[in-house]
Amino acid sequence: MFKNKTALVTGASRGIGRAIALALAEEGAAIVINYVNNRSLAEEVVREIEESGGKALAVCADVSNFEEAGALVGKAKELFGSVDILVNNAGVTKDGLIMRMTEEDFDRVLEVNLKGAFNCCRHVVPLMVKQRSGRIINITSIVGLVGNAGQANYAASKAGLIGLTKSLAKEIGSRGITVNAVAPGFIETDMTSGLNEKMKEDAKENIALKKLGTPVDIANAVCFLASEKAAYITGQVISVDGGMSF
Ligand code: NAP
Repeated sequence: MFKNKTALVTGASRGIGRAIALALAEEGAAIVINYVNNRSLAEEVVREIEESGGKALAVCADVSNFEEAGALVGKAKELFGSVDILVNNAGVTKDGLIMRMTEEDFDRVLEVNLKGAFNCCRHVVPLMVKQRSGRIINITSIVGLVGNAGQANYAASKAGLIGLTKSLAKEIGSRGITVNAVAPGFIETDMTSGLNEKMKEDAKENIALKKLGTPVDIANAVCFLASEKAAYITGQVISVDGGMSF
């Protein structure tokens, strides 16, 4: 499906990003595995892809830093010649009620989750416009649609990402580039591993399918949006949440 295509996946060393990278690689894309701290985990993902006959490379960059995001995109172009698919997946949480939330915790979540996506789009879009094709998929959250007590910073960043997705889709649709967002519900990764069993059971009660999601559930939606089959879909937010938010 993605033969001769290059995908850049931010935050691909673990969790949802890792599953997205593996799924795109399985369909033939060469992958740039971005990470910020966990080099050995990122290199493990590269190894896994190479062992299955694919091409991948791990590149360290803090996406919240404009220059580092530029260097990341530059490296992808230098190594694989283009960026056909950009998945803005890197994200962090710093939860707390607004009465106690520090300015630093508010800023950092916005910087990584929202500005990080802007930074990568800002550097990738000129390449995609030149080649007159491309797919951008932003990983938002259902929290960006419905809000969540204790996550004002995170919800604001994810709602912002939806605004960015829709605006950019309108800007570059005429150049053959689609921009969509995937909104996961409750997915079992390091990000949610801090929640205790009781909280997970309570969450399941509010999910129509009565189970938590897996990173592969998100990767499947991303693969679809990145494929030719989604050529006429842009500016959309697809919730992949087992029926948690409707
Ligand atoms: P995770 O397991 O905590 O992994 C986060 C990934 O982001 C890691 O690869 C991490 O790299 C990378 N990262 C963090 N800060 C970065 C930065 N400044 N620059 C570059 N990379 C950075 O998270 P996850 O659960 O897979 O979540 C992935 C995305 O899905 C996030 O955007 C998250 O908000 C969204 N999401 C998750 C859920 C859920 O239930 N899990 C629900 C809705 C939305 P290192 O390994 O190097 O630290």
